[in-house]
Amino acid sequence: MLSNNVASYIIYNKQDMGAIQMIGDMQKWTPNVAGIIEHAKEIHPQTEIISRLVSGEIHRSNYEKVCIRSRKLASALEKDGIKKGDVVATLALNTYRHLEMYYGISGMGAVTHTLNFRLHPEQAVYIINHAEDKIIFVELPFVPILEGLQDKLNKIQKYIVLCEEHEMPETSLKNAISYEEYIKDGDEEYKWPILDDDAACALCYTSGTTGNPKGVLYSHKSNVLHAQAALTAMTIQPDDSILMVVPLFHVLAWGIPYFGPMNGLKLVMPGMQMEGEPLYELIDQEDVSLAFGVPTIWMGLLAYCRENNKILSSVKNTIIGGSALSLATLQEFDEVHDVNVIHAWGMTEMSPLGTTNVPTPEMQNMSKEEKYAIQLKQGRPIYGVELKVVDDSGNELAKDGKSQGHLMVRGPWILQKYFKADKDAVDADGWFDTGDISVLDEDGYMTIKDRAKDVIKSGGEWISSIDLENAAFGHPEVAEACVVGIPHPKWDERPMLFIVTNSGEPVEKKSIIDFLSDKVAKWWLPDEIVFLKELPHGATGKLQKFELREEYSNHYMEK
Ligand code: ADP
Repeated sequence: MLSNNVASYIIYNKQDMGAIQMIGDMQKWTPNVAGIIEHAKEIHPQTEIISRLVSGEIHRSNYEKVCIRSRKLASALEKDGIKKGDVVATLALNTYRHLEMYYGISGMGAVTHTLNFRLHPEQAVYIINHAEDKIIFVELPFVPILEGLQDKLNKIQKYIVLCEEHEMPETSLKNAISYEEYIKDGDEEYKWPILDDDAACALCYTSGTTGNPKGVLYSHKSNVLHAQAALTAMTIQPDDSILMVVPLFHVLAWGIPYFGPMNGLKLVMPGMQMEGEPLYELIDQEDVSLAFGVPTIWMGLLAYCRENNKILSSVKNTIIGGSALSLATLQEFDEVHDVNVIHAWGMTEMSPLGTTNVPTPEMQNMSKEEKYAIQLKQGRPIYGVELKVVDDSGNELAKDGKSQGHLMVRGPWILQKYFKADKDAVDADGWFDTGDISVLDEDGYMTIKDRAKDVIKSGGEWISSIDLENAAFGHPEVAEACVVGIPHPKWDERPMLFIVTNSGEPVEKKSIIDFLSDKVAKWWLPDEIVFLKELPHGATGKLQKFELREEYSNHYMEK
């Protein structure tokens, strides 16, 4: 096991480094992510980068063009006085320009700070000021958001609007200029600088459901290592055409903008249009073979296909993470579309990939039910990531498929401390507490039972809200389900099930309870079912359970 061997001993106990007798004779490696786009230009120049623009029009670029335009951007930033270590923000969609910013900004030594346009304005102001952003690149539809906030943004010197010169809107934004004008005279032969060991590359903030959002500052090295590891852990083929639905503004789009060009993969980016119909069209037209996304996006795509008799014929694999995969989604991908589902898990603090669930030779001989049972697990750690599960006192629990506890992680692309924090976010041995409650089994698979803050404590036992949601989601009338623990005078907490139905109208509660009865233990059955028109989602599409918990907090107490 890695945690017991010499390699990890040396990595995690730096004070003992003096014990090393000899230093290797190989070249010193201080990576700059710009090397990735240069590699793609050299080896895969004509591989296409497809983007749906804000106008709806499809734009075609390639690795050669993206690389040269990134060089021009880097030189324009330098000319503008941006220095190594300055933070430059993007408020942008998944398009070729955002990819160019990933390389142009980070490659010249500044830090690419990706902003989520769904953030609450107060959070956006906090994040931009906390990061001390100097410039913001902004997508055309988001210009009004920043116009409303700019008086509160302390350090911003300039706003660059992601459009052609002639598309530039009338705007009050300070020193506003179009992206195309900004890079027009940039140097096509720009030479990327050699960076310091562990130089910062990109900055993302966690959603911060409680308290202020926290920044995670990735390094060039951590991003390159993470991308290389991801390539080995997701059945990626050199001729794959990737649909990148995961946003470039959230956790570096799971590393795709780095490992895609590393392997010369065609990238297909949907811009603003994430609904079932435009996604299906893009998949079909661009021959997408591998699609990355969160369950809610796939639910929309599957519903569109179901209602319009469409089959995802080009897609071979889909990687699903961000929230738990349900059996109903897995089955529909497999049985209707013949798409293999790879469940993955990670978090902002982990760059984000921690585990993936790729098919094993043993799975080929299993029944569908056995195979599905494995695929629903969040997967096995990719090389470089170590996992352990501990109890409330920090004692390691058995990897027996039963003992559940706090999931701890460590590895070279896992954070040491939050941006600008005084203290480390890890314990003395380098372990980071993910906030997830999980089970590890003998074969190395990890299963998430819940977020620690969402697990339901009923009569001294734990109920997994995720398991209960997944069971409810299998009911034919259920479009979305959310389970929350509500304070209870006798049992501490009891589960309450919130449902959005396909028709939007309530269905008989008994039919839901009957459906769940043979799927979960009797004492897990929700005491109350509430039908809603929609569930509260946060800026990254995750359920905001605390809102429902707050609203219904007195429900059982008052009875
Ligand atoms: P946030 O900013 O909300 O923390 P992250 O993307 O970092 O956003 O969220 C990470 C969390 O999302 C994980 O700790 C886990 O609880 C949840 N998560 C991610 N992938 C999965 C998955 N495959 N199954 C269940 N939960 C998941």
